[in-house]
Amino acid sequence: MKTYAYGFPRLGKNREFKKLVEGFWGNDHTKEELVSGLETIQEENIKRYELQVDTSPDGELTFYDQMLDTAILCGVFSPENIEDYYELCRGKSALEMTKWFNTNYHYLITDFSEHAGVNFKLNLEHFALNFKKGAFPSVIGPFTFLKLSKGIAKEEFKKLFLDLVPVYQELLTKFNNVQIEEPAFVLDLTAEEIALIKEGYSKLSDYESKITLITYYDSIDWLEDFLQLPAKAVGLDFLRGKANLEYISHNGFPEEKTLIAGLVDARNVWKNNIPQSIDKLRCLNSKVADIVISNAAPLFHLPVSLVGEEFLNQNLKNKLSFAEEKLAEINLIAKYFNEKTIPAELSSESYGENIDIKNKVKNLKAADFIKPTALAERRAMHDENFKLPLFPTTTIGSFPQTKEVRKNRLNFKKGKILDLEYKQYICSEIDKLIELQEELGLDVFVHGEFERTDMVEFFAQNLEGIGTTDAGWIISYGTRTYRPPIIFGDISRPKPMTLDEIVYAQSKTKKPVKGMLTGAVTIIAWSFVRQDIPVSDVAYQIGLSLKEEIEDYEKNGISIVQVDEAAFREKAPIKKRDWPEYFEWAVKSFNLTINTDSKTQIHTHMCYSEFSEIIEYINQMDFDVISIEASRSKGDIITFFENIDFKRQVGLGVWDIHSPTVPPVAKMVDIGRRALKKIPKENFWINPDCGLKTRNWDETKEALLNLIETSKELRK
Ligand code: GLN
Ligand code: ZN
Repeated sequence: MKTYAYGFPRLGKNREFKKLVEGFWGNDHTKEELVSGLETIQEENIKRYELQVDTSPDGELTFYDQMLDTAILCGVFSPENIEDYYELCRGKSALEMTKWFNTNYHYLITDFSEHAGVNFKLNLEHFALNFKKGAFPSVIGPFTFLKLSKGIAKEEFKKLFLDLVPVYQELLTKFNNVQIEEPAFVLDLTAEEIALIKEGYSKLSDYESKITLITYYDSIDWLEDFLQLPAKAVGLDFLRGKANLEYISHNGFPEEKTLIAGLVDARNVWKNNIPQSIDKLRCLNSKVADIVISNAAPLFHLPVSLVGEEFLNQNLKNKLSFAEEKLAEINLIAKYFNEKTIPAELSSESYGENIDIKNKVKNLKAADFIKPTALAERRAMHDENFKLPLFPTTTIGSFPQTKEVRKNRLNFKKGKILDLEYKQYICSEIDKLIELQEELGLDVFVHGEFERTDMVEFFAQNLEGIGTTDAGWIISYGTRTYRPPIIFGDISRPKPMTLDEIVYAQSKTKKPVKGMLTGAVTIIAWSFVRQDIPVSDVAYQIGLSLKEEIEDYEKNGISIVQVDEAAFREKAPIKKRDWPEYFEWAVKSFNLTINTDSKTQIHTHMCYSEFSEIIEYINQMDFDVISIEASRSKGDIITFFENIDFKRQVGLGVWDIHSPTVPPVAKMVDIGRRALKKIPKENFWINPDCGLKTRNWDETKEALLNLIETSKELRK
């Protein structure tokens, strides 16, 4: 049995990719240094493959993002040089970014409404593709590229797709071997879309012997047709794509094709259960003539390697496998299969168990998920209590994180400054921020989140049962990296996590200060999660810890609490049929968290506005106020709320904090007016559309002044 792998992280063990690209932006590296540095990364990745697997693509690298490269490959953009390329990635004319499937990777999105009448043509000479000049490059397929682009009218899609396929024809004339990635094949597709894919791909049939067609993230619902597409080898996910295995074990597999069997999980860090993989292989082997063992999704969702993680608990480390270790696992499965020996089951010795919290979750009753006081009654209590003006103003939590803030936090982590000194420093930052909020005249204050590196990592460090790594970096977009925590055990809260800072901030002002928490779904979405208990139990364990934190707030005079659920939409499964199960635990974990004193006003925050399909679920979350993105969508999003007669309050994110421009009052007022059509004015708040941690102080002050002016205008 042979082996195959693809999608190894481009980041480099020591984040070389980030350093090179950002170094080039900052003029610390020349173009030549950048190019040769990236080439070295590519070569090292190829060496890693060669050590463990038989076959892999040798042209996978990008200067920034593969989806942008695809747009360039087919001539939508023609940057003349590398500076032009990066213009498309960052700065004023940058493309918008959006989430890649249900992962936390973001790609640059091509907006076809700005490229009407585009003429696709193969653009291979472009520098960004020099890296793909290996003998076996990897590209995103035409369907996935268009399906994940925007600004394509329904009736236009067909023409665009059929126009785009010839670019791939031409590409295939230049190479003997191309890996085409079509993850969008696993989405819920219509019969028309499937027919269109068949029609388009049929034009590639002369090149069948050159095509390796890879899919991942879930199963394909139209396998019978898929398996007829021209490709000598096809990759299927046998981990998340459970239906793939069922189909093949019932219906077999075309004799002339190779099956690249995705058996090793590339979206989670746990070691492969090899006996289980071998079982699957046996089942496949009885139906398929030629199988190759592979990863089930691109490996870039994982950190590069476990080497160097010296501070991870050894017990935990023994259970883990990052990208490099996954390659070794692919090799190992083949070895065991070929030698017809079977390794012992992984020890199931549990680590980080907490019987007390397990029991608490087991004993949860329906009433634990339902607030005893209804929304309208709570509204009356809160109005009475807070006496807020019409269109109250607030912010989402974080304020600019200057170099100094980050340096102090790092020095504290490294033990260079003592606990007391650090606390005093954070307090002094809070003092300044409270003063500023008084000066500006905001209605509901925040403490600024100066003590937090990241909205998930901070809680991971303070909760039991979650580990953090030293260098387990992955890319969230471009050169931006983060370290997902690892949820390995039962989760509990040994002591209050955020109480000191919030209570301190409240002691400095008469205005209410919001307690600030990250919700269970978002903590789960941006972590690697244990798989030995249901994810719903993990969510309820986190929910119970967060609830204890809110109860501590309440005992200490905090009466407004925000629970951020930035990843609520993103975490939804790819297939709609899996939605009810997901939203059930997602909504319940939220309602469990906030089932505290009804006098407390509960806010939630989501950084986006794509609510059309999930608004009913959002409305099952029993918060009082939700703050959302409203700037890029110009207030139109409110129609979603109108349609369901939404009774909760809505914080309009009128300032797009992702853009470096200060929003003028008129523009924000306009958004407010559009939103005001049907929802009663008493139900609106005015706020930025996300935290301000990436902005600088000058623009923050100016923009907040405008924001407060906006609220005054609207009151008039
Ligand atoms: N409270 C967080 C902040 O203000 C929310 C961030 C987010 O939603 N991404 O930074
Ligand atoms: Zn946000």
